[in-house]
Amino acid sequence: MADDAHPCWAVYDLDRLRANLAEIRRRIGPDQACIAALKGNAYGHGAAPVAQALDGEGLAAFMTGSFEEACRLRAEGLSTPVVMFAGALPTGMADLVGAGLVPTVVDRASAEAAAGAAPPGEAVQVYVKVNAGLGRLGVPLVAAEDLLAELAAMRGLEVQGLYTHLPFGDARGRDWAEQRLAAFDALLARLAARGLVPPVTQARASACVAAGLSDHANAVCVGHLLYGLSPFADDSLADLSAYRPLLAEVGSRLIQVSNHPQGSDIAIGGSYGIRHGQRTAVAPIGVAQGLVRPVPGSRPQALVRGRRAPILAVSLEHMVLDLTDVERIAVGDVVRLLGGEGDAAIGLDELAAWFGMTPLDTAMALSGRLPAYYRDAAGGAAGSAPLRSESP
Ligand SMILES: *Cc1c(COP(=O)(O)O)cnc(C)c1O
Repeated sequence: MADDAHPCWAVYDLDRLRANLAEIRRRIGPDQACIAALKGNAYGHGAAPVAQALDGEGLAAFMTGSFEEACRLRAEGLSTPVVMFAGALPTGMADLVGAGLVPTVVDRASAEAAAGAAPPGEAVQVYVKVNAGLGRLGVPLVAAEDLLAELAAMRGLEVQGLYTHLPFGDARGRDWAEQRLAAFDALLARLAARGLVPPVTQARASACVAAGLSDHANAVCVGHLLYGLSPFADDSLADLSAYRPLLAEVGSRLIQVSNHPQGSDIAIGGSYGIRHGQRTAVAPIGVAQGLVRPVPGSRPQALVRGRRAPILAVSLEHMVLDLTDVERIAVGDVVRLLGGEGDAAIGLDELAAWFGMTPLDTAMALSGRLPAYYRDAAGGAAGSAPLRSESP
């Protein structure tokens, strides 16, 4: 698989991405549109390949925060509109509009700047973000109706979407989100009475969708669930077993195997704690590839030849494994930190916990640091799983 010059890799499963989207759609019903959140390089999974895989799926928009990433998506020639989360100064609006992106505006100044970039006789499409209670970004809920009325009268501007964000991680947050969804619904009702509702309205993200909350908007914007990640700190909030992590495999290969028979020249009690009688091996994947040192006492493991073997240490560019109990080990053998077959398989939750990270942290940490392969059974010959690679 990966380059023998530095054998380490991550595999992302695009069929799981599509299956997760299908599950989200099953959950929200046929009348709701879907927007994919692609910020943070698609939560670390690779914005361009994820966007390519989703482009034919009829999504209302891709939303991202990075201007550079958004320009790359536009350059891919995708047909799905790319909407920018609030992230630009008013003086940057012209760049967004010039690049064919749909800016988010949060006040009159940002809207005027966007409208000012409209070609003569045309209107620039924007989304308006409302602060419905998170307190982070957007026009305050109480001021939103007036702002939408002003924008409706502004030349060179067309409000295409209205959205807010209500993420939560526990049961208390769910109650808060339910109450804030009702407040957003009330805004939509007031706007409807004045004929000011834009085509796309959205308040629910992964947490609301997973917890089964409903509202009167016509779209959802999902990140976590799409990538098979839980949006919750408290996993008793919903059964997420139908969603599978897009990050399917992290692997490397053994570059050296060492036996340490009695009397051999090892530093007993050295920092790796290698003992006489052990067999150890080294794989070239470590902190530089996005791993961190394991949580003390966490007993991290990797799969070699279908067996779980202890990871003794993670250093800048290497990891040391204890393979004393694994037979017939050779240089070149595959080591899986994530993935594998059957009972021995290592899941993303387990891997993340060993390294003191959340699954999302893990996907972000590995992102761009090792060669990425995209598995896509649908796009290949029957039974095979061709891999497309993206340079890190
Ligand atoms: C990131 C983001 C989302 C998606 O959130 P998830 O919890 O990952 O589904 C939706 N809306 C806004 C404004 C966001 O920034």
